[in-house]
Amino acid sequence: MNKNEMIQAIGKLKQEKNAIILAHYYSDPDIQDIADFLGDSLELSRKAATTSAEVIVFCGVHFMAETAAILSPSKKVLIPVQGAGCSLADGINGEQLRQWKEQHPGGVVVSYVNTTADTKAETDICCTSANAVKVVGSIPADKEVLFVPDLHLGSYIAKTTGRKMEIWNGNCEVHHLITAGAILDLLAQYPDADVLIHPESHCSADDSILNNPSCYIYSTSGIMKHARESAKKRFIIATENGALHKLRKDNPEKEFIPVDALTVCKNMKKTSLEDLYNALLKGQYQVKVEKPIAEKAVIPVQRMLSL
Ligand code: 13P
Ligand code: SF4
Repeated sequence: MNKNEMIQAIGKLKQEKNAIILAHYYSDPDIQDIADFLGDSLELSRKAATTSAEVIVFCGVHFMAETAAILSPSKKVLIPVQGAGCSLADGINGEQLRQWKEQHPGGVVVSYVNTTADTKAETDICCTSANAVKVVGSIPADKEVLFVPDLHLGSYIAKTTGRKMEIWNGNCEVHHLITAGAILDLLAQYPDADVLIHPESHCSADDSILNNPSCYIYSTSGIMKHARESAKKRFIIATENGALHKLRKDNPEKEFIPVDALTVCKNMKKTSLEDLYNALLKGQYQVKVEKPIAEKAVIPVQRMLSL
């Protein structure tokens, strides 16, 4: 099958199976173009919770498909490539979190959705990069906050809200590469640009970034919105480079400069059109979460969605 035939075949199978294709902005461009819904982690969680499709094919990484399975237990959730993981989600497990909680009795656990189901099952409330400040702000001031697993996002929230938090020492292997030095060097080269920075980046709590009027910290959907609405013509993009596809497609008259050619998530790029076709054709690979874990893990995700 050539590419066009493959796209046709995927469309036909999708209808036959009553399936919806969800993809993150970091997916391969072909996958972004064929998805029924493209979004950041928060938008994808909302969509997974409300879709009427019987089958959800999640073209992203495992924790995203798992979150969809937790939110929609009666639906069949498929991930086209097994082993599409995430260094953040792998940074802590349920047992480690249980032990940490024992050292901080009374602490309120805020977990990034980039966590496994067993970590979520030990969590009080989840957040994504789009709502993390709001979620932490919803916790009574006299409570200790235990934030997992991203050190950089946690440090950014602590710095910008003034909230004292205990923060787990995990990171995203991609955003961890994005330093203040690299951004400031590029800004010296392109002083007319706005710099749009994901808070998972190494530099998101760095004063040289936070005090710079050209630098803005956003989730992926916030980066999209700023680029769309700004009168500026040039942007330095400090996040995973898959986001450039949608930015360039939606804003052909604007220029987007990646902070580094290496900020590519190999796991997000694993799913090809052929994998997606096979997932629909063969119903593979179903993501299931054991009922006792799913029943606990859904609580912090629903708390986040109802905020
Ligand atoms: P957002 O989708 O919240 O911007 O997070 C980015 C990310 O790294 C997802 O894996
Ligand atoms: Fe995980 Fe980072 Fe890849 Fe997102 S970009 S899936 S946080 S490793």
